[in-house]
Amino acid sequence: MLAIEVENLTKQYGKHFKAVEKASFSVETGEILALLGPNGAGKTTLFKMMTSLSKITAGKVNIMGYDLHKDEYKVKSLIGYSCQEIGLDPESSVLFNMRLFGKYQHIYGDKLKKRVDFLLQLFELKEVENRKVKLLSGGMKKKLEIATSLIAEPKILFLDEPTLGLDIESRKKLWGYIQQLNEEQEMTIILTTHYLEEAEKLCDKLVILESGKIIKQGYINDLKEEVANDLIKINFS
Ligand code: ATP
Repeated sequence: MLAIEVENLTKQYGKHFKAVEKASFSVETGEILALLGPNGAGKTTLFKMMTSLSKITAGKVNIMGYDLHKDEYKVKSLIGYSCQEIGLDPESSVLFNMRLFGKYQHIYGDKLKKRVDFLLQLFELKEVENRKVKLLSGGMKKKLEIATSLIAEPKILFLDEPTLGLDIESRKKLWGYIQQLNEEQEMTIILTTHYLEEAEKLCDKLVILESGKIIKQGYINDLKEEVANDLIKINFS
């Protein structure tokens, strides 16, 4: 079953500049898809349009059979997202931030308590639940960001640059969590990255963007050889 269908998605800024132009791709339920490309390629813009954080100029996004434009409320109940704009409060504790995000998503009382507890255990953050966010390591902060996006039990998870700025060890650990969510909870995951290695390690499908346009897409196993043999040129400057 199709989890996501994106059709001719376009974002225009000003009169002439298209940050994303006619992007079309689809994701099956349970797949992990990476949006890969260098700085400025349009990954975050696509991410924001798909999660309703940014208005669509043209095109369509369909999530589990619901049109994002027509059924925004329903779509929002099916997705969770983690991105830099999701501001954690650095002066408050891990637990406080988790509960706050739960309340934002209309989850309260015992249900919230149980869910927060489950996620803190899952991401091995239980021991630091009373620590202020500003005192967490980069890796812990990333885990917390992802945990906040999972409180309402979404079916589809969107992650914007989930391991950006982390050292290789922390990055590998986070990959483990992402794989676990995908395998054990059958979660469909879309992530943006500019690490080819990350896309190869985690994803079933790859969409490669450059200057707002999709230059290549497909299953990673089919594309691997082309990338390795330099047949697909990605200019990671
Ligand atoms: P990065 O890896 O650096 O985050 P990206 O692939 O996510 O890059 P976007 O952030 O989507 O790229 O940006 C795509 C293009 O759109 C860039 O040229 C950027 O400068 C431009 N852009 C993004 N937001 C705006 C905006 N609000 N107004 C005008 N131009 C914008």
